[in-house]
Amino acid sequence: MSATSDISGEVTELLQHLIRNACVNDGTPESGQETRSAELLHSYLEGSGVDMETFESVPGRASLVARVEGKRKDAPTLLLMGHTDVVPVNPDGWDRDPFGGELVDGEVWGRGAVDMLNLTASMAVATRRLADSGFSPDGTLIYLAVADEEALGTHGADYLLSHEADAVAADYVITESGGIPMPAASGLKLPVLVAEKGSCWTFLRVRGTPGHGSQPFRTDNALVKAAEVVRRIAEYRPETTISETWRRFVEGMEFGPELTDPLTRPEGFLDLCEALPLGMGRIAHACTHTTIAPTVIHGGTKTNVIPDFVEIELDIRTLPGDTEPEVRAMLADALGDLAADVEIEIRKDDPATSSSADTPLWDTLQRASKAFYSNSALVPMLMMAATDARFFRRAGSTAYGFGMFSTALTYEDFATMFHGDNERVDVESLRLSTELWDAVARDLLT
Ligand SMILES: [Zn+2]
Repeated sequence: MSATSDISGEVTELLQHLIRNACVNDGTPESGQETRSAELLHSYLEGSGVDMETFESVPGRASLVARVEGKRKDAPTLLLMGHTDVVPVNPDGWDRDPFGGELVDGEVWGRGAVDMLNLTASMAVATRRLADSGFSPDGTLIYLAVADEEALGTHGADYLLSHEADAVAADYVITESGGIPMPAASGLKLPVLVAEKGSCWTFLRVRGTPGHGSQPFRTDNALVKAAEVVRRIAEYRPETTISETWRRFVEGMEFGPELTDPLTRPEGFLDLCEALPLGMGRIAHACTHTTIAPTVIHGGTKTNVIPDFVEIELDIRTLPGDTEPEVRAMLADALGDLAADVEIEIRKDDPATSSSADTPLWDTLQRASKAFYSNSALVPMLMMAATDARFFRRAGSTAYGFGMFSTALTYEDFATMFHGDNERVDVESLRLSTELWDAVARDLLT
């Protein structure tokens, strides 16, 4: 058996096990039960000589830390982080068992195949193989299989950095979810997620005056007012911000001046987003704006009662620099003369985070990537959703989302499979990522 097929078989099998463990995180503290996968990975890494420690924030929610200690204290520490939990599924939309981990025509099927058990498995295999090969780096390599990424990281990364910082402190962190090759004029572009938007979970309470539903004329109906509040928020246009990350992404993608110029200028940007194909327009808009989406509304008690109270939930995603005060100002702007009738509660402000794209880790990824795709170049990208990288950036680490993938699946394929139906990954991508981690650890730590 060749070394290549050996790696493919090993990482495929480990991924299948992780999928079958079905560590489904529905947001409740007792869900996930990632201890099963922490134990699986512990036994997989056992005997390779790595130091291992398990941390359980609450029963059943364990995270595993494995270390290959470096020889020099002044050399950098690299942490490879994969989460072990997955989001729930609706099996009706699937062509295969979402927790079967079946291998069909060179693809592994199941929840977590791309988010992100694929990388969690490949990072473990790379760590095991490095340790087995007698890898003795100057800097320290840490592998972290972390629980609870899919529900704010409370029992995983957030817990570890608050309570066990010594075990996971690292100069450089790599986690999901970049690296999907995107074709461009001069070759493949590999996105590195250097920053991610923040989230600001907001509740609006709209007050009215109760009355009999049989006499609605001139009543102070909270539901009618709430409809206008939702309309104003939907129509509100926050300012366009062309960040350094966005500019470098657009320039790196070599779209040509006819698209590059308007994509890097705030003037006319919204018209451009309207004219772009739908998916592209949405991404371009989300990467350059703090966005406000009304998502939930509760109100009213009975058909014949004029409601005096309606609650609206907003999913607000903030750009770096926009925090609670900026969000409150935007909402006041959007509500206008209705602001006095609306109470705003910001339940959780989780600000955006970013890392520089000019770091030794960036250079390492660039060098390592060339060995896979000689005509490739990295481009920095802003992640629109949240990952565990944010906790590490706040603790001072440079944290990127990256991986190595074949060109069998497109960026659009991946986008629809994240938390979607028929999630699957090709074995070739599993092998490439495993080899990437090996190359990155050797480049950065020796
Ligand atoms: Zn994920």
